Amino acid sequence: MLKPEGFTTRVIHTPFSKEDANHALHQPIYSNAAFDFESAEQMELAFQGRLPVHAYSRISNPTVENFELRIKQITGALNVTALSSGMAAVSNTIFMLASSGTNIIASKHLFGNTYVFFDSTIRDFGIETRFCDLTNNEEVKANIDENTVAVFVETITNPQLEVVDLESLSKIVHEKNIPLVADTTLTPPNVFNAKEFGIDIEVISSTKCISGGGTSIGGLIVDYGTFNWSKSKKLAPLAKRFGPFAFNYKLRREVFRNLGACLSPFAAYLQSLGLETLQLRFEKAANNCRELALFLESIAKVKAVNYPGKDGSEFHKISERQFGAFPGAMLTFDFSTREECFAFMNNLDLIRRATNVYDNKTLILHPASTIYCDFDQKTRESLHVSDTMLRLSLGIEDIEDLKSDLTQAINKLQ
Ligand SMILES: *Cc1c(COP(=O)(O)O)cnc(C)c1O
Repeated sequence: MLKPEGFTTRVIHTPFSKEDANHALHQPIYSNAAFDFESAEQMELAFQGRLPVHAYSRISNPTVENFELRIKQITGALNVTALSSGMAAVSNTIFMLASSGTNIIASKHLFGNTYVFFDSTIRDFGIETRFCDLTNNEEVKANIDENTVAVFVETITNPQLEVVDLESLSKIVHEKNIPLVADTTLTPPNVFNAKEFGIDIEVISSTKCISGGGTSIGGLIVDYGTFNWSKSKKLAPLAKRFGPFAFNYKLRREVFRNLGACLSPFAAYLQSLGLETLQLRFEKAANNCRELALFLESIAKVKAVNYPGKDGSEFHKISERQFGAFPGAMLTFDFSTREECFAFMNNLDLIRRATNVYDNKTLILHPASTIYCDFDQKTRESLHVSDTMLRLSLGIEDIEDLKSDLTQAINKLQ
C-alpha cells in the first residue's frame, strides 16, 4: 500500500486504531466515561494493560487516541499522550522525571506560567530549578550535577524570541546522561522535527496552532523513545523491564492517570480537525509575520523589531537551520514609551487585544502589564520583558488588511 510522505497527507489519512462500526470518515466523538466488558476475564486483561481496549475516559478514549495517533504519525514518536492543556503537559513531564532533592536546568526565558511552575510550584516539593543561559554551553555544563534530572528548553522563547542551538545543547546534555525536554509550541511539527535535534521529550500546547483557531485548550507529551532510561535514577528499575517504553509506562499507568489532566473528547475532536489544516494555516501566518516584520521596521515611530527570521537578528542563521523558512509567527516591537504602546493598542481596529498566540486572528498584547504584571520591575528586566515592548502573534488574515490596521493606528499617535 502507498505510504504517504507529506505532512498534511499523513495527518488526514492516519488510520483509526479500530474499524469504525458505521464507517465514519472522521473519528466520532466518544463522549462517555466508561466502556463495557464481555467478561470478568476480559476486564482483568484490560486492567493489566494486556488488551488494547478502553476502560475509562480519564485513562484513554477512542477520540483522544485518534488525535494521539495523528501526532505520532507526523512526529515519528514512540508514544504520544494528549492532556487537558499545555501546562498539564509541562507539569506531568516534570512530575515524571523529578523527585525531591533533584534539580532541573532551564532558561529564565520561559512562558510565564512555566516560569512560575519552576520557580515556585515545584520548589515547594523540594525540586530546585537552576536558571541559566542555555545559549551558553559552559554555563549549562557548570550547572549540571549528579542530581540533575532534565534540561528544559523552549525552541523560540516567548516573548524574548531567543533561539538556542539545539544540536550543541543536546550534545552536552546527552554526554551527561540527562534527557532534553523541549517546549516546541512556537515551532509546530510541520516546520520542526524535534527528534532530529536530539529532543527526547517534547511538550506542546495544542491550544495554539494545532487547535485550529483558538477553539480549545489542550497539550501533548511526545516521547521519542530516544533516551536510555536506565541512566535515570527514577526510571532505571522500569527501564530493566520496559526499555525505551519505561517513560510511557509510568506516565500512562501512574502519573497521567493520577494527576487526572486528561483531554476531553470534544477538544480532541476539534484539535484533530485543526491538525488537518495546520500546515496551510501556519505557513500563511508565518509568511504574514515575515512581511510585517519588514513593514514595521520601515516605520520611523517603531524603535525596534524582534523576529528571529529577519536579517540582522542574532538568531537568524540558527533559526533557519532549525525551522527552515518559517521561524515562527510571532514578533515583538518597541515604541518609545509604555504610553505609546497603550495608545497604539487602543487605536487598532482589526487586530485583537488578547492573550493567546497562533490563533487564526492576529493578536496583540503588552507583556509587561499583563502576563508579567505580578513581577516587579527588576525581575521583569532580568526576564528581558521591557515596558516599551508589544507582542504580535500573526493570524491568517490578508496581509494588506493587517498593514492598513497597523498604519492607521500608528498615524493616529501624537
Ligand atoms: C500557551 C503556552 C503554554 C501553556 O499552554 P496552555 O495550553 O495554555 O496550558 C506553554 N508553553 C508555551 C510556549 C505556550 O505558548
